[in-house]
Amino acid sequence: VAKSGGKNRVRVFERGMREEVAAQDELVRDLRAAVPSGELRVLYQPQVDLRTGAVTGVEALARWQSGSRGWVEPAGFIPAAEATGVIDAIDDWVIGQACAQLRSWDAAGLPELRMAVNVSPRRLATGSLAGSLAAAARSAGVDPGRLEIEVPEAVASGPDAAAGIREVRALGVHVAIDDFGTGSSSLSRLQDLPLDRLKIDPSSVALLAADAATGSLADAVIALGNSLGLEVVAEGVEQPAQLAALRALGCDAAQGHLFGSPVPPDAVERLVRTGRPLVAVA
Ligand code: C2E
Ligand code: MG
Ligand code: MG
Ligand code: MG
Repeated sequence: VAKSGGKNRVRVFERGMREEVAAQDELVRDLRAAVPSGELRVLYQPQVDLRTGAVTGVEALARWQSGSRGWVEPAGFIPAAEATGVIDAIDDWVIGQACAQLRSWDAAGLPELRMAVNVSPRRLATGSLAGSLAAAARSAGVDPGRLEIEVPEAVASGPDAAAGIREVRALGVHVAIDDFGTGSSSLSRLQDLPLDRLKIDPSSVALLAADAATGSLADAVIALGNSLGLEVVAEGVEQPAQLAALRALGCDAAQGHLFGSPVPPDAVERLVRTGRPLVAVA
């Protein structure tokens, strides 16, 4: 009895595996079609200068509005896209959209915003990223110096990213380290790279309370950024107390639900047009 029970469990397990593999195949097939069939969207999240309270740039974040699955967040498709290489087409499309969007905000008379895009680790390593950024900027007629790539800490300090980062930086595109403070990284490697900004991960920002800011992980990251001559951007700022602490610590810029969630282009335009600082200037 015990033996046949074990066999049944194995069969159930195998069926589960087969279903999972089939579901993954289907996801990848749908994802491959998503770019050509126009199912991707880009949302833009404002980045705020903490000295002036003004929106100075945005981060482009991909969404998938799937015919069969509905609205899919990056966590539901970026990992599969990375694993299969579909991410290259997605990132190229996002970069093209982002540049065209800058151009149309310019044409609408908005102050010149900066645009951050996320890029996949494999794209940096294969060396085709710089060409794609240059082509998109040229075709939209925007200065590459208004663009920034976000490279996760763990990727930037790895052995395969340095050449790609230098190539992108040589175009005048800025380079930010994303999710800083989430993993161990080689600081000596980071120090050798041509970087512009450090983004403090939301997990460090979440630990901030105004009265315990000194000596926090965010404090250490801001000090490190300053000593490397980098601007520091806090990500995932949700509470006024976190903002107050970041200000007190000398953080340069911030992003998070407190200032604005990722939104469509027209909502960015409304936000910037109101002309008032999003946060009270100290
Ligand atoms: P990320 O680059 O670190 O982006 C920040 C994430 O934090 C975004 O999640 C954003 O919506 C979320 N966020 C914004 N404000 C807050 C806040 O106040 N609190 C908290 N807890 N979170 C906040 P999202 O949009 O789901 O993107 C997740 C990740 O997917 C991104 O992390 C990025 O690594 C990746 N991703 C998104 N779009 C693209 C893309 O076009 N290409 C590539 N290669 N990766 C992308
Ligand atoms: Mg990012
Ligand atoms: Mg991040
Ligand atoms: Mg991330």
